[in-house]
Amino acid sequence: MSRTSLPSSVLIAGCGIVGAATAFFLSRRGIDVTVLDREGPAAAATGAADGAVSVASKRPGPMMIAALSGVMLYRELLAEGVLTDLFKPRSTYIIAASEEECAVLEAHAAALSGEGVQVEMFGRQALRDHFPSLSPAARIGVEVKGDGHAIGYRIVNRMLSAFGVTVRRGTEVTGLIEAADGSVAGLASNQGDFHAEAIVVASGNGTADLLGFNGIMRPRKGQLLVTERAPALNASMPGSIMSGRYLLSKGSQKGAPTQARGYGLVIDPLVTGQFLIGGTREDTDARQTNDLDAVRHILTDAVELVPDLSRVRLLRAFAGVRTAVIDGLPMVGPVSGRKNLFVAAGFEGDGICLGPVMGRAIADMICGKRPALDLAPFEPARFSTREVAA
Ligand SMILES: Cc1cc2nc3c(=O)[nH]c(=O)nc-3n(C[C@H](O)[C@H](O)[C@H](O)COP(=O)(O)OP(=O)(O)OC[C@H]3O[C@@H](n4cnc5c(N)ncnc54)[C@H](O)[C@@H]3O)c2cc1C
Repeated sequence: MSRTSLPSSVLIAGCGIVGAATAFFLSRRGIDVTVLDREGPAAAATGAADGAVSVASKRPGPMMIAALSGVMLYRELLAEGVLTDLFKPRSTYIIAASEEECAVLEAHAAALSGEGVQVEMFGRQALRDHFPSLSPAARIGVEVKGDGHAIGYRIVNRMLSAFGVTVRRGTEVTGLIEAADGSVAGLASNQGDFHAEAIVVASGNGTADLLGFNGIMRPRKGQLLVTERAPALNASMPGSIMSGRYLLSKGSQKGAPTQARGYGLVIDPLVTGQFLIGGTREDTDARQTNDLDAVRHILTDAVELVPDLSRVRLLRAFAGVRTAVIDGLPMVGPVSGRKNLFVAAGFEGDGICLGPVMGRAIADMICGKRPALDLAPFEPARFSTREVAA
């Protein structure tokens, strides 16, 4: 879409981090933005995420490159004052405790360093000296420097309030309003029709139905736990922990398991002194439920790696549902055959990290500017019409 002037109005379907970030970057250019959400801001995955703003777990290639841009943008927004108090820079430590995890981690560290990410490798003894709360079962560790943490719903609130975006809660988008020239004139909803010059669908798991991507996008649930405060233990941890198994469960490496429920341990020491511990990857959209098997499994893994967590009480368990795309890459860009319709969805477990940078990219495209990040790998047009219809 090439424009000589900015659109006067934009409609966004979905008020997760992606919709809110897109709204932020458009509204700061003075464009009138309305965001429609069937529930409210951060009601879905964004409000139920861990919040790792992290390159550490990304597959080499486009996702690692995008995550590097994502982390850099968080740092820029922090420096500008937009994210004051909301982005906590910290390292991620990927820990391997088995032969298989060591092999995966060594290959992954080489890939990260090949992309210019600063990493430091620790052998067993060096790891114990540097990270004393880790169990002796930890064999090797890789510190990935430059990562950070952000709570999704807080980012959304800041981005919506910065330039006064209009949010319509309880507004379920039910379809596109077609214009005679092949463009999209607006969105139909349970609250009536809305019109604008450009339309963005950032509806997470609602995107497939709206754009006919069923079979291409899938819900993927995750269960997470939050502990009480344990300030001394929290302060003793120089960063967050990710188990080598997390890389396997996420499919970051060839040969990743494909069972319906995968586990991958992440322990994030929060600024509050609590710990956020995750999690599962499950091919279901049952977001209201936690189960004892999952809670027990996650806690057992966590205590195995950080034994002192056995003295910290669990406060709550919750679950959220990510939106996965079958080829493991999000869908970001113009929708084929529609002049003024864009999609940004399918970020699976990476949308807190990638939301702002992808929101800025969509805003750039709408304004006729080439995004700094190469979006070619994420273009929706990579799926043939046949696949979309299936
Ligand atoms: C357990 C868990 C842990 C995670 N941990 C991390 C992490 O550590 N780091 C990371 O980077 N990412 C993480 N993620 C992933 C991240 O949360 C998501 O990728 C990201 O929040 C997706 O944002 P979104 O805006 O695309 O979608 P969502 O947050 O799902 O927002 C979509 C919005 O669209 C609305 N909507 C849907 N359909 C319609 C409709 N028809 N009409 C109107 N509104 C509609 C919904 O109500 C919702 O508010 C995690 C996710 C989960 C579940």
